[in-house]
Amino acid sequence: MNAKFKANFDLTLKPDYRPLELEKEIREFWEKNQIQKRLMDFREKNNVGLAGYVEGPPTLNGIPHVGHARGRVIKDLRYRWKTMQGFFVPFWAGWDCQGLPVELEVEKLLGVKNKRELIERVGEERFIEECKRAIMKYHREWVEADRKLGVFINQEKAYWTYKDEYIEREWQYLKRAWEQGLLEEGYYVVAYCPGCQTSLSSAEVGYEDSYKEVEDPSLYFKFKVANSQNEYFLVWTTMPFTIITDMMLAVHPEAEYAKVKVENEKWIMVKQRVEPVMQELAIKKYEIIETATGKSLEGTRYDYPFKDVIPKQAELDKHPHVHTVVCEDFVDVNTATGVVHLSPGNGEEDFFAAQKRGVPIFAPFDDEVKFTKEAGVFSGIFARDTDKMVIEELRKRGLLVEAKTVKHEYPTCWRSHHKLVWLARKEYFLRTDKINAKIVEAAEKVEYFFESPKNRFLSFLKEGKPWCISRERVWGTPLPIWRCENCGEKTLVASKKELFEKALEKPPKNFELHKPWIDRVAFKCEKCGGIMRRENYVLDTWHNSGASPYARFTDEEFEKYVPTDFLTEGIDQTRGWANSLLLEHVILTGKAEAPYKAFLFQGLTQDAKGRKMSKSLGNIVEVNRLLEEYSADVCRFYMLWKCSPVDFMNFDLKELSRRPHQVLSTLYHLNRFFLQNAEYDNFNPQKHTLEWALKEKQLKSPDLWLLSKLQATISECTVRLEKCEFNFAMSTLEDFVIDSVSRVYVPMIRKELWTDDPKTLNRRLAIYATLWHVLKTVTLLFNPVTPYLSEALYQRVYRKLDPTLPESVNFEGWPKPEEEMRNKTLEEEFQLLFKCVSLVYSARQSARLKRRWPLSKMVIVAPENICSTIKNFEEFMLELANVKNVEYAQKAPEYTSQKGWVSTSEDPIQVLLNIERDENLIGEGLMRDLARRVQALRKELGYVPTDILNTVHIAELDEENIRLLKPYLRDMAELVRAKNVQLHGKREDAKLEWHEYQLDEKKVYIAIA
Ligand SMILES: [Zn+2]
Ligand SMILES: [Zn+2]
Repeated sequence: MNAKFKANFDLTLKPDYRPLELEKEIREFWEKNQIQKRLMDFREKNNVGLAGYVEGPPTLNGIPHVGHARGRVIKDLRYRWKTMQGFFVPFWAGWDCQGLPVELEVEKLLGVKNKRELIERVGEERFIEECKRAIMKYHREWVEADRKLGVFINQEKAYWTYKDEYIEREWQYLKRAWEQGLLEEGYYVVAYCPGCQTSLSSAEVGYEDSYKEVEDPSLYFKFKVANSQNEYFLVWTTMPFTIITDMMLAVHPEAEYAKVKVENEKWIMVKQRVEPVMQELAIKKYEIIETATGKSLEGTRYDYPFKDVIPKQAELDKHPHVHTVVCEDFVDVNTATGVVHLSPGNGEEDFFAAQKRGVPIFAPFDDEVKFTKEAGVFSGIFARDTDKMVIEELRKRGLLVEAKTVKHEYPTCWRSHHKLVWLARKEYFLRTDKINAKIVEAAEKVEYFFESPKNRFLSFLKEGKPWCISRERVWGTPLPIWRCENCGEKTLVASKKELFEKALEKPPKNFELHKPWIDRVAFKCEKCGGIMRRENYVLDTWHNSGASPYARFTDEEFEKYVPTDFLTEGIDQTRGWANSLLLEHVILTGKAEAPYKAFLFQGLTQDAKGRKMSKSLGNIVEVNRLLEEYSADVCRFYMLWKCSPVDFMNFDLKELSRRPHQVLSTLYHLNRFFLQNAEYDNFNPQKHTLEWALKEKQLKSPDLWLLSKLQATISECTVRLEKCEFNFAMSTLEDFVIDSVSRVYVPMIRKELWTDDPKTLNRRLAIYATLWHVLKTVTLLFNPVTPYLSEALYQRVYRKLDPTLPESVNFEGWPKPEEEMRNKTLEEEFQLLFKCVSLVYSARQSARLKRRWPLSKMVIVAPENICSTIKNFEEFMLELANVKNVEYAQKAPEYTSQKGWVSTSEDPIQVLLNIERDENLIGEGLMRDLARRVQALRKELGYVPTDILNTVHIAELDEENIRLLKPYLRDMAELVRAKNVQLHGKREDAKLEWHEYQLDEKKVYIAIA
């Protein structure tokens, strides 16, 4: 670890906190010295334990935006923090490369409209090459974003979900499923996107934003009861095309159904809906003439009306259950007519109802969801385009009651936004429904940190539907099942080796585990000697990424790192990666165990106004662009500080530049203040330790108080990080830096540092020992959040003063609270002191007196014990309050009732403040006002606090002010670290570089020479 430090590294802290510049320098430092790689190598060999990790792979089909950045910042925070705690984390990248999103983008790029055109015009081979090229383009963007953000993820060890070696290991999950009888082929109703021409998993159907308001027909129609004169079932639907595949009507067995007389017809519907439906249909004259239970209607046949135009339906009609009434509990009697028509080819519940009764599934659709020949007159037409024709056919037959339109929420494809169609298709399924209890049990053991995402995830899992994993696409992991053309025998192959051994012809050199190459491999059937060909599917891309815990590691690594310690992804991944990881792991291991011990779901990131970021709104903030102008550290801090990780975050650039920037800037300047003073007095951290200061009895109560507060900050910050309450961890750090160190401690000790008297040198060194310890610890606490700033401070302050320190802040350990430094009594006592000071501040505010203006006297009225406590710290309280004298009393003294006194109080303390200022106090106040401007000028001109100025010149004060100021020129010289201060009448009197300042209503001129 003591490798040679590369030279030419800038070791100065510039006067201003300029994060962009600093981050560039630190990045170069890291890269030149290979800090990231060496840190990981070091921890792999020297650790207190392992903290497993698998990267949730970003899909390489988009530019990284701030929402992604938030997730990556959380991951990196966790990595750096755990590494500092001594754990080895395999923080290795991974990329999700295959699947529909990539295909759709490449289709667009190639200008093809659908899959058929793609295969005919482009061909699968070229298409695969284009997909690979497309992902590489995005890969460069992601790597650059990680680099700029300072994310220490190992890019060299990244996994790629399209590589053969990954796919082979992914197949092992299928092999395990196959062995357990959990991988099956079968008809099933799936959500199908006519645009993408593939089925979707039930998880995909529920995606954010996939429900859109659409307009559909609202249709009331009648089916005539067979062999009746004028009796009809009244039915409602929004999908008229499903009447083409209608097989049964369903009623609720326990509900009461009515025969309603309308003109000379009798309509059958559920009784409780008669009135509202009649109202909706604007039928005023009607009469309920008979009622009966749903159960009594069971088995009633009805005349299916399209037998003449759909010959297949005429054939199916011969089946005993087809076109009869069945009883089903799922029938909702609170909407529509309580009579539901069932199309097992187009609905999940309908499908089950048919399967139960052995009713055939009629699903005459091709891949573009056009009706096939079996649908008679409707053949060749896209399903949803037949809605109008169906309505017309009903009208012709006198069966149409009313056709209107309705607007309702309807699921659309999350990628292409086509309306989904439910279709019975032959697909491959992982029968996760069979092992659902185990899956839920596994999920219940996981730590989720927050209740709402946990509930969301568990209730989704409890639905327990089978997982349709086959996709009729190209760019994906091939389903490794071959089927005999002759006898239907099937075999699953789970490795390249096995595949090569079985292949009838030796595969070519450029062979890879993708279409079209794999489709050209045929086997010989072991049962009948026939030819076996591959089932033409690829796998759901979620299966591909969900295989990462096993597929990305070796067997040995898998044993070590899985179940992983901690994973985090967006809340949308409850239905995505978190789900597929879990299902696959339970299949692979057969255990009720998730592949992760803890999972943090992050809220999504929106724009400043709380709107979703989208291309159409043009409000997407790209990471690489953002970080050209804004600091990575400030962004990182902001993302963690602004809200809880589970909350939706409104990302606001204005807010980013305010408080978060201020916090980091304050930390920077505190370090600079410390360094300059410490260097001036030749502070040596190895010699002037806290132990030394204690032994020398040089530590005073402010130092002890600050050290105590530091311990509280360390434990609070650590506990909050453990609970993933990052925002609270950040505000703990924020409070410590801004309030405890900057607003309280530094003002209490500043005066002691002004002098260079050798007699008080040890006291100054004790203050430096305190600041060294406190600020260095804070720098470490900030490292997982603001790695650039922490590294810069570490190199330019701490390693500068102590070159024996490790070569990077990342090699430091995570601070642990030291109980012996904690002093709760002292903290409580200081709390009282701060209360008095804040009462003085509010009294000053009400009298419009600046804090810089000294006042003569205050009285503290409080119980005796409180008074005596404050008395112990009197000197510091007066310093902070900027008051010359204090008296203590249990009752307000008589004289404070006179003019010139103001009072503020907060039980049990009352503060009385004398606000009258004589010439001396006014003069001193004026001096301080001017001194502040001189300090600003010093800084502007690049002087460091320890530089001693020759002369400070002040011009154009009025007579009165000159008179008031004169007695304080000596004090002022000391305060601004100048040998002397000279007053001038007109600024023309001296040829100097004057700087203009506003002093109350007037102008004043200052020069430094
Ligand atoms: Zn689609
Ligand atoms: Zn065979």
